[in-house]
Amino acid sequence: MRDDAVGEILVQPDDLSRRVRELGAQITEDYHGRDLLLVGVLKGAVFFLSDLMRHIDVPCELDFMAVASYGSTTDSSGVVRILKDLDAPIDGRHVLIVEDIVDSGLTLQYLLRNLGARDPKSIEVCALLTKPERRKVSVEPRYVGFEIPNRFVIGYGLDHGERYRNLPYVAALVEGA
Ligand code: 5GP
Repeated sequence: MRDDAVGEILVQPDDLSRRVRELGAQITEDYHGRDLLLVGVLKGAVFFLSDLMRHIDVPCELDFMAVASYGSTTDSSGVVRILKDLDAPIDGRHVLIVEDIVDSGLTLQYLLRNLGARDPKSIEVCALLTKPERRKVSVEPRYVGFEIPNRFVIGYGLDHGERYRNLPYVAALVEGA
């Protein structure tokens, strides 16, 4: 059953799985001979992260952070609050932050500063989606799945009011539907 709020499909399931496989292969090549710590940003990145990790063939561990940005539900204010911190220290580790989407870039800028201050050996970002038009600060993830236009999207982990995360594709939200 198709919900009226689910608009145009921007990324189809086949394209998601192909790109996730490619990203996994790239990360495997880049981190060859190193141990990797994947830091998933809850909750949106969970689906992407679990698919991606199965395509990474270097020794890797997993931890999670949950953050909330103050402000409206569709606009980030840049003031970020940690709801759940990492379970373990990251000093000396090769850290790869796994994000669902980079919009203004403010959340990512905060995460890079916060985790960067904990002395990791390296820190990079892998984002499934990016909306370059919306960027307010210059943060560019090393790995990006897809560039998308300036639309609010749902599916494959991304929610609107906690719903639609289970859609197997990424679609535009029809506001007010
Ligand atoms: P930023 O700080 O880059 O503006 O926003 C990042 C966060 O805002 C993302 O991790 C995500 O939680 C949320 N966000 C930004 N754009 C979208 C979108 O189009 N759809 C959904 N569901 N969340 C978004």
